[in-house]
Amino acid sequence: MSPLLEVSGLAKHYPVKKGVIVQKQVGTVRAVDGVSFHVNRGETLALVGESGCGKSTTARLVLRLIEPSAGTIRFEGKDVTKVEGGAMRLLRRRMQIVFQDPYASLNPRLTVGDAIAEPMVVHNIGDNASRRAKVHELLRLVGLAPFHAERYPHEFSGGQRQRIGIARALSVEPDLVVCDEPVSALDVSIQAQVVNLMKDLQARLGLSYLFIAHDLAVVKHMADRIAVMYLGAVMEIGDKGALFANPRHPYTRALLAAIPHPDPARRGRVTPLGGDVPSPMAVPPGCRFHTRCPFAQARCKQEVPELREITPGQRVACHFAETLPDPGLDYTGGLT
Ligand code: SF4
Ligand code: MG
Repeated sequence: MSPLLEVSGLAKHYPVKKGVIVQKQVGTVRAVDGVSFHVNRGETLALVGESGCGKSTTARLVLRLIEPSAGTIRFEGKDVTKVEGGAMRLLRRRMQIVFQDPYASLNPRLTVGDAIAEPMVVHNIGDNASRRAKVHELLRLVGLAPFHAERYPHEFSGGQRQRIGIARALSVEPDLVVCDEPVSALDVSIQAQVVNLMKDLQARLGLSYLFIAHDLAVVKHMADRIAVMYLGAVMEIGDKGALFANPRHPYTRALLAAIPHPDPARRGRVTPLGGDVPSPMAVPPGCRFHTRCPFAQARCKQEVPELREITPGQRVACHFAETLPDPGLDYTGGLT
């Protein structure tokens, strides 16, 4: 069976212009720069990386909230970038988003019931009575009592608002839910509750998640597979177990080694990465990670490493993925 979502060579480049009357293009921001991955039915693929690495732009491209500069996005084998009109409306219904900020993503003037029902209205699903019944069912599904439908967003906590955001996304019965840092604005004590709810809903409804995060503790709990992004490209992608047990890309290793382990004897001895992430207007040639990679060699500055399968289910964009020294670290950083 083909994957639910298949993204190939996806890119988003923005021209940078200067001048008031006569505008001249002075550069290009390569926000997303040739990204490929797939999401199978019923699974969670996490996109991780530091802020500015292109995760959110990738999410917006997948949902076609913005148009790609290059590449294809296939949903059930159909190229989403070529779909228009009514067919696109149908596709939109099947892909929904849960936003990072549960405070900003709900209209303060709509009751919670109206906010949850809104996507059903937009997609012409049901009548008032059936939508009302569905809202009550959705509220129960996310662990809130149906009477909350008459209240307003400001009457709820952050965690409750994110439950409402999830109910809203589920109101049109999507197959894929793109989650853009859905718990990073919440208190740590609340994060686990929302993550557990999302996992429970996935199992019950057979949902697929494209789960965007920078917190590896959350990702370890949530993901089936993980794609590590750096400066607009995927550096490593693989099953969660393999990636945590045996990360192959130097950048993945650095990210994982940065998680503090509660036992000092097992803490990473990998030196933290030097330097800053280069600007997406000046992506280094060859391996885009070479300016910060402790293993960089002459070849790395010229030749772009392709994302190659190193072991079944694990692909790595590094010329030397097979021969890099194994630092023998416990990369789990105490994450359970
Ligand atoms: Fe480092 Fe070279 Fe591998 Fe890039 S290709 S990650 S610079 S060793
Ligand atoms: Mg973001």
